[in-house]
Amino acid sequence: ATPTALMVGTGRGAQLGILIKGPEVLESTRRVDTVVLDKTGTVTTGRMELEDVYAAGDTDEKQLLRLTGALEHASEHPVARALAAGAAGRLGLGAGELPAPERFENVPGLGVRGAVDGHEVLAGRERLLAEAGVTGLEALTAAGERARAAGRTAVLVAWDGAARGVLTVADAVRETSAEAVRELRALGLEPVLLTGDNKAVADAVAERVGIAPEAVYAEVLPQDKVDVVTRLRGEGRVVAMVGDGVNDAAALAAADLGLAMGTGTDAAIEASDLTLARGDLRVAADAIRLARKTLATIK
Ligand code: ADP
Ligand code: MG
Repeated sequence: ATPTALMVGTGRGAQLGILIKGPEVLESTRRVDTVVLDKTGTVTTGRMELEDVYAAGDTDEKQLLRLTGALEHASEHPVARALAAGAAGRLGLGAGELPAPERFENVPGLGVRGAVDGHEVLAGRERLLAEAGVTGLEALTAAGERARAAGRTAVLVAWDGAARGVLTVADAVRETSAEAVRELRALGLEPVLLTGDNKAVADAVAERVGIAPEAVYAEVLPQDKVDVVTRLRGEGRVVAMVGDGVNDAAALAAADLGLAMGTGTDAAIEASDLTLARGDLRVAADAIRLARKTLATIK
């Protein structure tokens, strides 16, 4: 290819808000036919907020907020940030005023675990609590189901071996995401939604942006996201992946073309070929269009 034309393409990219790692990246963009979209922080804003608080049985709601907020304060995950800020707010505290956990462990794709105020606390997906052998989980089922039906992510909380409550968080689909999916489709790319979040929430987001339920991969653990990309490539597809999280880094690197949201983590940006400077998925379509145009002038 003519280096000059590629350099011009790179310069034009910068004007559009596309940061290109090297001119050769434009080449790999040409044959892309599938685009895998991470949900949280990519299709949605990732700015989650605490919505409902459900204290099961005789659980004290204030204690539920305090223990969950304190533990989640130690995590960077968008769900965790919403829970820590929301819990502190409802307790009338600043986020820094929650107690520091005596112990903290992040369980990627499932939740968090640790000790607060002398209690052994778990917060996250049902699977995290079930695998720990927590009792009384059935008391949380109805609240969890209500949340999911409303398109919210349910975080189940247990301490000292017993289920205690459910906190729900929700974030907004980016205003530009549905239009972006239309543009990507018009360019001949098949969109796929990939998330660690639950199926009902993922389906609700997919419907909002126009992705078919068959193209939704939900409840995928962080280490398995890369397998979805590898499997699609194994079917002979040329795969672009758009993501923002630490969780997405391996999948972004494994894709034929990795695109990071500029609003995302350093890990995602480093693993990607392109960065979309604004938090706007339509720029992914701009990038594909630009690459094709640039390469067409070379032919
Ligand atoms: P995504 O792929 O949508 O970016 P993740 O793989 O990071 O999401 O997380 C998957 C799910 O695991 C979340 O939707 C949430 O239910 C749960 N989860 C992850 N981290 C936490 C946390 N710190 N606290 C509670 N739940 C969490
Ligand atoms: Mg994400």
